[in-house]
Amino acid sequence: MRWHPMDILTILSLAVFCALPSSAQPGAQTPAAYADVLFINGHVYTSNPAQPWVEAVATRGGRILEVGISEVLTKYRGQNTQVIDLAGRMAMPGMIDTHTHFLWGSYGLAGIQLYEARNVDEVQKILREYATSHPDEKWVYGAGWHYGSFWPTGLPTKELLDLVFPDRPVALMSEDGHSIWVNSKALAAAKIMRNTPDPGGAARGIIVRDGKTGEATGVLEEGAKRLVLNVMESAVSQKEKLRRIHLGMTFANQHGITGIVNATGDIAEMELYQELHKRGELTVRTTTAFADDVGVRHTLSKQELANFEDARQRFHDDWVRAGIIKFFADGVIETHTAAMLAPYANTPGQKGDTLYTPEEFKRYFLELDRRGFQVMTHAIGDGAVRTTLDAYEAVEKQHGPRDRRWRIEHLETVDAADRPRLGKLGVLAAIQPWCCPQKGEPWADNIGPERLSEGIPWQDIVSTGATLILGSDWPVESLDPFPILQMGATRKSTFQKSEEAFFPKQALSLDQMLAGYTRNAAYGEFMEDRLGTLQPGKLADMIVLSQDLYKVPPDTITKTKVLLTMVGGKIVWRDGI
Ligand SMILES: [Zn+2]
Repeated sequence: MRWHPMDILTILSLAVFCALPSSAQPGAQTPAAYADVLFINGHVYTSNPAQPWVEAVATRGGRILEVGISEVLTKYRGQNTQVIDLAGRMAMPGMIDTHTHFLWGSYGLAGIQLYEARNVDEVQKILREYATSHPDEKWVYGAGWHYGSFWPTGLPTKELLDLVFPDRPVALMSEDGHSIWVNSKALAAAKIMRNTPDPGGAARGIIVRDGKTGEATGVLEEGAKRLVLNVMESAVSQKEKLRRIHLGMTFANQHGITGIVNATGDIAEMELYQELHKRGELTVRTTTAFADDVGVRHTLSKQELANFEDARQRFHDDWVRAGIIKFFADGVIETHTAAMLAPYANTPGQKGDTLYTPEEFKRYFLELDRRGFQVMTHAIGDGAVRTTLDAYEAVEKQHGPRDRRWRIEHLETVDAADRPRLGKLGVLAAIQPWCCPQKGEPWADNIGPERLSEGIPWQDIVSTGATLILGSDWPVESLDPFPILQMGATRKSTFQKSEEAFFPKQALSLDQMLAGYTRNAAYGEFMEDRLGTLQPGKLADMIVLSQDLYKVPPDTITKTKVLLTMVGGKIVWRDGI
C-alpha cells in the first residue's frame, strides 16, 4: 500500500536529479540551470553516513540540487540565485519531531498560558488579565496548569474559574495533557450534571466529584475530557483553528522543526493541515496517527477501520500523511498507571494494568498488519513494553517478515531481557529524552530505589540494535529540540541545577540523537527516499544554527538558536543571518 502515484513521480524526479554532475570536472560545462538558493562556507551536517560533512548546499525547485565544496557549487550561482554565506556556521537537515500532539500544542499557544504559574495568586492574575484582554472570545481555551499542593484539594475547582469567567465557557488543559479544568458554563455546555456517569468502555475517564454532593468539581480526567472538548471543538470556527495551527507552525519553524508526527489525531485534524497545504501555507510536514485521546481504546469497529482506510487514501503526499494507528498500552509511572512487571515500591501488590489484554493486542495488531498499517504503542512500564513486544512478535511469527516499522513510544522502563528484542524485531524506539527522575518525586519513589538504575535506559536500547527516533511529546514537554538534545547527552535537567547526572552510562551520543531527529525519523515515516538527509534529489528541508553542536560543551546545547529554517526550498524562518 505504500506505492502511490506520488511515489512514482518522486522516483522519476530523483532519477533526473541524480543524473546531474555530482562534482565539477575540469572543463565541465556550466549547468544550464542555476540554484534558487546557495548556502556556502558552512559546516554542514548532512546526516548521510557516506558523506556526513560538506560546506555548501544548492537548492532548486524545492529540492536539493547538490551538496559539496563551496568552490565547486558556485557553478550554480546565477543572477537570481540567493546566496547565503554561512561563515562557518553549522547547518543540518530540518528536525523531524517524531512524537507531538501538534493540535493541542498549537491550541495551547493561542489561549491562556499557565505553564509558568506557581501558585493560586499567579494563576488568578493570568486568568483576570486574559479575561480583560479577550472580552469577545466565546470559548476560552488554555493550557499548562500543574497538579499540586497549592490547590487546597490538590486539584483546581470550577469556582475559581467562575469568579473570573461567570458568563462564558472555559476549558484549560493540564500541563501533562491528561486532565482539563473547566468552569460551570463549560460543564453546562457539555450537559454534565450530578447524575452524568463517568464515561466507560473505550472512552473511559473520570468526572472528579465532590465527595458529599456528587457534583462535578471542575476537573475532567482522561476520556472524560472529550465531553467538554467535543462541544468546544464544534464551537471554534475553522478560521480560528487554522490561526492556532499557524502559531504552532511558526513556533516549530523557529525551533528548527520542519516535520512532525502526531501521536494523536483524526480525520478532522488532517483536513485542517490539508486546507493549509492547499492554501500554500503549511510549513511543517505532518504525519498523523489515529488515536482518540490518552487512555481511549481502539475497538477496530467497522467505522474505525473505514476511517483508517479513508485517511490513508486521502492523505499520502509529502505534507499531509496518515497510515499510523496509535495505541496506549498503559498510563504513566507518576500515577501508578504504568503496567510494571513487579509491584510499585510504595503500593505493595499493585503493579498497574495494561489497557488491552495480550489477546486483544494480538488480535488488533494482526488485523492492522493484514491491512498494511503502521502501529505505534505508548508503553512506559516494563510490563506494558513486554506485552507490546510479545504482540508485535506474534504478528511477525504469524504473518512473516514485512517492512512494518512499528514503534514503541516512551520506553521509560524496559527489562534488560527485553532491550535487545526491539532491535531484533525491527521495532523503532520512539524516545523523548527528559531528565531526570529525582528521589522524593513520584517517578523515582513509585518504582523505588532498586529499580531506579534501570530507569530510562536509552543507551542500552539503542546499542542493542534498536533504531532510535526522537521527539518531544509537545506540549507535554517543550517542542524545542535543543534542551532535549542536551538532556539526552548529559542525563541532567536543563531547568534545575542538578549536580549529578542520572546514570550517565545511558546518555546518548550526538550522532545517535541527530540521526534520531533526521534520517531515522524519516525512515520511521517511510519518507527516507525524500527526507532526513541533505542529498541531491531530496526535499530541501534544512536549518542553520547559531552554534556548532559538535564544538560546544554538551551542557550548553540548550542555548542554540535557529537562525534559518527552510522547508521545501522555501525560507520560512530567518533571524540573525
Ligand atoms: Zn504523547
